[in-house]
Amino acid sequence: MTKKRIVIVGGVAGGATCAARLRRMDEEAEIVVLERGPYVSFANCGLPYYVGNVIQEESKLLLAWPTLFRERFNIEVRTRNEVLAINREASTVSVRDLETGREYSEPYDALVLSPGAAPIRPSWPGIDLPGIFTLRTVPDSREIRHWIDEKKPSKAVVVGGGFIGLEMAENLALRGITVTVVELANQVMPPLDLEMAEYPKQRLESRGVTLALVDAVAEFGQGSNGCLSVHTQSGMAYEADLVVLAIGVRPETMLARDAGLELGERGGIRINSQMRTSDPHIWAVGDAVEVRNRVTGQWELIPLAGLANRQGRVAADAICGRDVHFDGVLGTTVCGFFGLTVALTGATEKSLRRAGMVDFESIYLHPGHHVGYYPGAQPIHLKLLFRKSDGLVLGAQAVGEEGVARRIDVIATAIQMKATVFDLEETELCYAPQYGAAKDPVNMAGMIAANVVRGDAEIAPWDKLDSTEAFLLDVRQPNEFDAGSIPGSVNIPLGQLRSRLGELPTDKEIWVNCGVGQRAYYACRILAQHGLHVRNLSGGFSTYRVMRP
Ligand SMILES: Cc1cc2nc3c(=O)[nH]c(=O)nc-3n(C[C@H](O)[C@H](O)[C@H](O)COP(=O)(O)OP(=O)(O)OC[C@H]3O[C@@H](n4cnc5c(N)ncnc54)[C@H](O)[C@@H]3O)c2cc1C
Repeated sequence: MTKKRIVIVGGVAGGATCAARLRRMDEEAEIVVLERGPYVSFANCGLPYYVGNVIQEESKLLLAWPTLFRERFNIEVRTRNEVLAINREASTVSVRDLETGREYSEPYDALVLSPGAAPIRPSWPGIDLPGIFTLRTVPDSREIRHWIDEKKPSKAVVVGGGFIGLEMAENLALRGITVTVVELANQVMPPLDLEMAEYPKQRLESRGVTLALVDAVAEFGQGSNGCLSVHTQSGMAYEADLVVLAIGVRPETMLARDAGLELGERGGIRINSQMRTSDPHIWAVGDAVEVRNRVTGQWELIPLAGLANRQGRVAADAICGRDVHFDGVLGTTVCGFFGLTVALTGATEKSLRRAGMVDFESIYLHPGHHVGYYPGAQPIHLKLLFRKSDGLVLGAQAVGEEGVARRIDVIATAIQMKATVFDLEETELCYAPQYGAAKDPVNMAGMIAANVVRGDAEIAPWDKLDSTEAFLLDVRQPNEFDAGSIPGSVNIPLGQLRSRLGELPTDKEIWVNCGVGQRAYYACRILAQHGLHVRNLSGGFSTYRVMRP
């Protein structure tokens, strides 16, 4: 049998994983990894923390190096070797050795593309001024660090309020720099639903980050003192000693496009469930490919390390003839800054609407991350989306200081297993006072949602609150009500409800709210059993406060 020759373009998350898995599957294959940059297998996700000096040594970012690939896996890694073109007819790639300038041709039986995605750098006037950075590679992070060490900047502008932008905002703040974030959308972290993005917004502002939302950079200028000025389309100008562009990434598809491989509607390389491209000898993985969302069925570009790793593994197995499949993505993501964790999985309300899906409902809850009687309980603000007709779990978003990632991970697994809210009610999770509650937030989310699906507790639509003719009933204690309430609502504390039923209208709906939705639920059950038509404002006044900050 002739040895199979497998060439991999890109040696970081997807490419390195694919190479190592290939070796475990096929001891005989010749495996060559061609990487344009100086390093393979480095920790892209750690780069913001190297800028912030949380990770102090650059060497910690390097997870593997060519000699390790050679000695441990018998894989040949050539760094500073850029693939220039794919010649599909000859089954070769053209490569340039960036050290020597030599160009050569490399044959393949199977080719894997894992070239990643490049930070978007629009041609705004002044974009090439010194002090304006993007962050993708170890050298990028080194340059920003040097700039900070040498110039001692006091003010920075981060363009883009997504995950990388906000991680950078925190890390620049850790270096003593005052940060302004300019973001085109009307919220930070655009994948989140608007009201869930209010929590990170408040946290950023409370930690001194200036947010310029619904604004975009028009141009950059530079004063005689060297200070940059960031001019925005709204007419504002922000001074900065340092600018980081984090407005998203674009899949590196030049090689694939030039070779005539099929691209998808979102601009990524189109692959099948075995990560094979439209050419049966070429596979593609990672940030460069389009993936199908498991919930909405839409094609998406989701640049996440876990996906690149899993896809690299699937491609390797498929090349070795195994019947494996990549079944799509949920976009499970977590991000932390200024002590806050924000995580999401599956669909959001936005993405469901975009996909034209209407059979869904959402509920909000604000449980502690562990029981309240044990010191240190922190609230988790959780939104769960589910199919109204049968309770299939569709997505979740959570924000809080503790225990957030764990809950989203559980729900992500549930979505992947096609679980319903009834399954979440029943999910058996570990509990001791310092970790959770006998009714974990995940169980509570399941119970609240299951009540809705069973018809035991109807949810009042938050977006109709301003226009509803319903009677607004607040069942909190008077001191809570006096500290803030929904305009027009009437306060009857839960404990007095049974004796004051006569004060409630029988000819219209009653929308009940409390602090987080629990007492309102008890009230709804009392009132429903007295024949009144009630709905619960899910998430209660806590949700109202973020919706109407
Ligand atoms: C600052 C930052 C923070 C991040 N944080 C997170 C996080 O917390 N969690 C998370 O899940 N994801 C995170 N990501 C995203 C994650 O790093 C990517 O999803 C993942 O690295 C994608 O893997 P990949 O193999 O597709 O591409 P990459 O890891 O980017 O590797 C692609 C490699 O291909 C090389 N290459 C490209 N073209 C050629 C060519 N023609 N010839 C030779 N080599 C080529 C490039 O030099 C590059 O090194 C972060 C990314 C960045 C930049």
